[in-house]
Amino acid sequence: MEKIYMIPVNDAYDSDCECPLCTLRDNAEKNYLDYYLGPSLMEPDTRKITNRTGFCPVHMGMLNNSEAGRLGLGLMLHTHLKDMDAEVTGKIAESIPAASSGFLKGKDYKAKLNQAADMIDERVKRCPICENINDAMGHYIDVIIWMFKHDDAFRNKLENKTCCLPHTAALLRAATDLSQSDAREFVNILLSNSKQTFKILEDDVEWFTLKFDYRNKDKPWGNSKNAIQRSMRFLSSDRRDFDEQRTKQ
Ligand SMILES: [Zn+2]
Ligand SMILES: [Zn+2]
Repeated sequence: MEKIYMIPVNDAYDSDCECPLCTLRDNAEKNYLDYYLGPSLMEPDTRKITNRTGFCPVHMGMLNNSEAGRLGLGLMLHTHLKDMDAEVTGKIAESIPAASSGFLKGKDYKAKLNQAADMIDERVKRCPICENINDAMGHYIDVIIWMFKHDDAFRNKLENKTCCLPHTAALLRAATDLSQSDAREFVNILLSNSKQTFKILEDDVEWFTLKFDYRNKDKPWGNSKNAIQRSMRFLSSDRRDFDEQRTKQ
């Protein structure tokens, strides 16, 4: 098993975070954003990729908000626009229904319109940052499964660290590569962690709502102040809009 993936996985499981896989994903995302905004943007091999893919809406937003690399971003977008223009406008032109309805039957022109729309949707979705993150997460999850089987110290970490629900789903899927008895043990750990997290969040969110009752006004918040954001992160894993700065009392 590749050691280069074990170190970040162990670090994430050792860190004080709500989901080690979210931490790994966030770190990978940061690295790839830096990479695509750095000198690589000028390299022909990278440009060959980004001319074709551009970036997904989320990562375009992040690239836009980033301080560095405006020139690189402009150069990348210029050649990507040209690449898109060549294919997209060609495809739209092909999809124009014929003037005479006798020439092309109704369903033929409808199929062509759908094909043009599908092609645009597919191309807009593509993103090398997403693709690289997905590859890295695949390696990390393989490492987690491998260490669960071969590393007792890691198994102990697994038992003491819960994951958000989307990453619990990813681990359940990965457990299909284990033998039935190993999968049984692995899933028991996931279940126990999930149950514990559900209980904590349910109690904290409930107390959050009860704090609005004037009779509880002076009672301590306990861990409930950020219960909304922690619940959202557990349910969806996406951290971008769930930061605690939005807490309003
Ligand atoms: Zn997660
Ligand atoms: Zn993306």
